[in-house]
Amino acid sequence: MTTSRKLQAVIEAVAASDGAGVKLRRSLGSRQNQRFDPFLMLDEFFSDDPDDYLAGFPSHPHRGFETVTYMLDGHMRHEDSFGNRGDLGPGDVQWMTAARGIIHSEMPQQTAGRMRGFQLWINLPSREKMKPAAYRDIPSREIPTVALAGGGELRVIAGEFEQGGTKTAGPIGGLSTAPLYYDLRLPHGSEATIPTPISHNTFLYVYEGDAVVGEDAKPLPFRAAGLLTPGGSVRIRAGEQGVRLLLLAGKPIGEPVVQYGPFVMNSPEEIQQAVIDYQRGQLAVAS
Ligand code: FE
Repeated sequence: MTTSRKLQAVIEAVAASDGAGVKLRRSLGSRQNQRFDPFLMLDEFFSDDPDDYLAGFPSHPHRGFETVTYMLDGHMRHEDSFGNRGDLGPGDVQWMTAARGIIHSEMPQQTAGRMRGFQLWINLPSREKMKPAAYRDIPSREIPTVALAGGGELRVIAGEFEQGGTKTAGPIGGLSTAPLYYDLRLPHGSEATIPTPISHNTFLYVYEGDAVVGEDAKPLPFRAAGLLTPGGSVRIRAGEQGVRLLLLAGKPIGEPVVQYGPFVMNSPEEIQQAVIDYQRGQLAVAS
């Protein structure tokens, strides 16, 4: 019997603005050094007001990590310096490994209605920070949904989920941080015990309703990230209104992190190099 994880810290999402003025809520990464190795940042964007999102994220660089965009509502278009183009609609995921460098834009393709989703930043180990950039669009239909034994459901975006001896693999696997990316929906009165690799740092993010987490039943409120203690599983109970939440787990990298905006490297010298490469137009080149 492995240890069950408990809530160790709660990070409430705070209002932030990024890109050309997109209003969003940042939990992980909202303060300096507030990371959970290998996770660097989690943003939720949610608005029914086009003024909050129309400006989008015009052309900007990334180096040294991965960005994962998960749309719940709305329509965004990605275009990058390698000529990739992708449309993201409800339920779709874009998994972009910036690594050595990419310059891209992420722009809304709607002028009204709801825009809702998440962007997660996952760090790369030093040996992978300068590998060629890669990019994948994952349509919603390729993301399996599992009915949970205790009620509710779970979408497997990355990694595997095991229940009753049956394994369900998500479309993303084989990465060195071995991430789990689950989207859970638990109706009121239901609970789930979700297995998590002992080697992984694991956190939750509640985006609808609220939850009670761990054997010691600590509350995790709406729009907050809950960092968990080490363990082999986590018990989650839905609150009065039920709950929708993300479960994110990854193998820690254990290396120094130096971040300068969209560049995340191991040393200040590598950051300087990223800035120079970007200025010289050599950040995003095929290698
Ligand atoms: Fe970006």
